[in-house]
Amino acid sequence: MAKIKSLQCRECKKEYEPTFRYICEECFGPLDVTYDFAPLRRETFANREHTYWRYHELLPIESSSNIVSIGAGLTPLIKADKLGEKLGLNNLYIKNDSVNPTFSFKDRPAGVAVSKAKEFGLSAVGCASTGNLASATAAHAAKGGFPCYIFAPSDIEHAKITQALSYGAEFIAVDGTYDDANRIAAQIGDSRGIGIVNINMRSYYVEGSKTLAFEVAEQMGWKVPDQLIVPVGSGAMLNAICKGFEELERLSLVGNVSGMHMIAAQPHGCAPVVEAFKKNRSEVTPVENPDTIAKSLAIGDPGDGQYVLRRLKQYNGFAEESSNREILDAILLLARTEGIFTEPAGGVSVSVLKKMVEAGRIDKNDSVVCYVTGNGLKTTEVMMEVLPKPRTMQADVNKISALVR
Ligand SMILES: *Cc1c(COP(=O)(O)O)cnc(C)c1O
Ligand SMILES: [Zn+2]
Repeated sequence: MAKIKSLQCRECKKEYEPTFRYICEECFGPLDVTYDFAPLRRETFANREHTYWRYHELLPIESSSNIVSIGAGLTPLIKADKLGEKLGLNNLYIKNDSVNPTFSFKDRPAGVAVSKAKEFGLSAVGCASTGNLASATAAHAAKGGFPCYIFAPSDIEHAKITQALSYGAEFIAVDGTYDDANRIAAQIGDSRGIGIVNINMRSYYVEGSKTLAFEVAEQMGWKVPDQLIVPVGSGAMLNAICKGFEELERLSLVGNVSGMHMIAAQPHGCAPVVEAFKKNRSEVTPVENPDTIAKSLAIGDPGDGQYVLRRLKQYNGFAEESSNREILDAILLLARTEGIFTEPAGGVSVSVLKKMVEAGRIDKNDSVVCYVTGNGLKTTEVMMEVLPKPRTMQADVNKISALVR
């Protein structure tokens, strides 16, 4: 298992004991987990279990008895030849994280945070959610035997509410934005000692998303891709992917990571990171009322926004947004070339990828990994509006066969 060294402030670098805390007392900066890594070899991973816990030495859980696993991770990295051909790319890969147990990448951070809540002996867990984290937290809470409290804006997709309720969570639909739900969750977490996975457990939570770097590296034969397209809501995932590759480099499991390009993808109507990037600012100006079909990315005040901006500078990056129309077109393009059905967040990744190629920012021979992070079955409402309704036919084979060309 991992040997955690400390929690370290991302700003002033002050170090703390790795306890149930998440903010620096000196400067209010976020705290990151640091480790004393033992040497690791690539071969070590070859025969391990097919979940992200195969990288347990690099995750912040100290006793394997505290791992709460529902089998998430090691999702397919698909060589996307058909989509690549459409876009003019020879080495395009889709990291299909829409096929996790609760159908989004959020099983990674939520599973690590709930496991850590068990290690800390907390009595309950919860989250503030734009939709997918609700189910990821609720499912892991069910498996770990925790009561679970979800705080989410009331306008999220039906399927996401149904799913979270099915796992037995208490679902509090807040009449307001994600930022409103987040504020309430933070106060209740602190006053009641509940492990809110993405707030007071955030230092541990973000570690789970590093496995999106570990898996891609291993699946590419321990290579670092040239270009990575990452959807950005709070920005935690993009940051974690960078931290993941850096840790692999430190362990000599991959070569130099400084040549990779990180591309942040956001939806028009909630693209505060893109706006700050294009204006060359180092701080993000919050969007007060997000308005986009990509509800899982509708975070007006992204907690890790300024750190995403730093990562984009550090890794020769770029940031771009796409409109609702472009998102829907990209969902259909991905479905009709690669057979992968994603929710709008994945449509944002694919449409920004397309824009990057068209703008000449990606070379046709670059190795490109596009992260598709959520499943289309969670957001069918938005697709029904643009797809033709099937005509109901009389059960008459002659009439129906006339329709088959
Ligand atoms: C939450 C979410 C994101 C964004 O992740 P952050 O860590 O908040 O930036 C992207 N895609 C999907 C499907 C999500 O649910
Ligand atoms: Zn500090």
